[in-house]
Amino acid sequence: MPALRCAPSQLPVASLARFARWDCFAAIVGSMESINPATGVRIASYPEHEPAAIDALLDRAVAAYRDWRLRSFADRGRLMAAVAAVLRAHVSEFSELMTLEMGKPIAAAESEVEKCAVTCEHFARYAERYLAAEDIASDAAHSFVRYDPLGVVLAVMPWNFPFWQAIRCAAPALMAGNVVVLKHASNVPGSALALERVFAEAGLPAGAFTSLLIPGSQVDPLIRDPRIAGVSVTGSEATGASVASVAGAALKKCVLELGGSDPFIVLADADVDAVAVEAAAARTINNGESCIAAKRFIVAEPVADAFLDRFTDAMRRLVVGDPLDRATQIGPLARPDLVDALERQVGDSVRMGAQLTAGGKRLERPGSYFPPTVLANVEPGMPVFDEETFGPVAAVIRSRDERHAIALANLSRYGLGASIWTADAARGERLAADIEAGCVFVNGAVKSDARLPFGGVKASGWGRELSAAGIREFTNVKTVWRADARHATQPRRAE
Ligand code: NAP
Repeated sequence: MPALRCAPSQLPVASLARFARWDCFAAIVGSMESINPATGVRIASYPEHEPAAIDALLDRAVAAYRDWRLRSFADRGRLMAAVAAVLRAHVSEFSELMTLEMGKPIAAAESEVEKCAVTCEHFARYAERYLAAEDIASDAAHSFVRYDPLGVVLAVMPWNFPFWQAIRCAAPALMAGNVVVLKHASNVPGSALALERVFAEAGLPAGAFTSLLIPGSQVDPLIRDPRIAGVSVTGSEATGASVASVAGAALKKCVLELGGSDPFIVLADADVDAVAVEAAAARTINNGESCIAAKRFIVAEPVADAFLDRFTDAMRRLVVGDPLDRATQIGPLARPDLVDALERQVGDSVRMGAQLTAGGKRLERPGSYFPPTVLANVEPGMPVFDEETFGPVAAVIRSRDERHAIALANLSRYGLGASIWTADAARGERLAADIEAGCVFVNGAVKSDARLPFGGVKASGWGRELSAAGIREFTNVKTVWRADARHATQPRRAE
């Protein structure tokens, strides 16, 4: 099929022109738009892949897998290190692209690119160790477990960390010998295409990493396609439930990284002045649009008033503005509907008795701006307690004692991350055992790290990313059992 070069309808920034190139194989069926959330202005439009193009790209991915799976860890690692170098070489362009497409402050975008590079280097270096065959004593002359790749992994990813979410999935999957097809969120098509260019520029074979520009409504048939071996989804609860049901029916492996309503527990012995500043940062990371941003601040009664004062003050001081301006700490939300959702959650919670101490209403200016917002006297049953809030909105809840704090923390359908703040670190570690979450941080804000497993329980999903646990998710944990030839004729024992 002849290749047809397509071009965006508008290319106002150099980064889009340089990195958001693509080849599509057939006619345009629809388009995806990059809209700058700081202004509401469309910055680029990209054609969606049509079915014949998707078909050809899946064939290409399968062909790439046949070769890629046979390469040595050293070879794959060399190319993954080259991915890190390409990311760093273009940090300015990629950061600007992300900021323009979804509104994160430019410095945060630069950190995101660096984190991607570090993670590529981590898996380039440690994948062989994480996936080394393990001898296990049994009735065999030699028995061991090996970790073999599965094939083409479909990565369905969200817009909030356009580079990080995709790299977090792709770097370990590729190092394990799989190849990756990315279906990125529809509002970050430029980032999706830029990522494809990164892997190509680093020298990975065509088809090792492919970006498909398709809407979420077209994911189901992809999951069912026999060329797809498994699917990793990072996104909302509803998307996770849908992907899991389709993958389940098709008997495909899936990993679900979904929403969260992380508790931030302040015990009575904590240093409230210092913790309040940490709390504001933990709530507003990435404009508050992070699954592991702290969302419910559960504060011990004796320090609750002092915490609320300091925290409200810290939230009010945050600088809201143009995310390309380096003075800005809070940019716009990524889409107008996210502002609508927050306004509903805050308004309904206030009607149910919560008290606003900062923010509360969208900002009257162009773009999708919502100010840092604090709600006091929050209780279970209010939307800001029960639901995930995806923006800079904090719910402050009072706890009677340690047990009450843990009970409130666990009174959530989610279980992604949690943090505990206390002068007694050993007490914090002990309490971690009682928290229903995929990770608990003591005296530190929740974060992801390539060396540590990442993922949730309950409605926050299942499976893990990063670390040894993450790289093994998309592998065949294969048992090999061997008898010496002289044993081969012995009668079979019951299984
Ligand atoms: P989303 O609406 O679920 O979208 C995520 C991805 O899923 C997008 O690529 C989207 O495509 C696709 N999608 C939507 N509906 C689908 C369906 N029925 N079947 C298959 N794919 C579908 O989530 P979002 O609003 O972009 O992201 C925010 C959510 O992600 C929050 O809940 C957040 O907590 C969660 N998140 C979790 C983690 C984690 O590690 N646990 C990390 C980041 C974000 P379209 O864009 O084309 O609709």
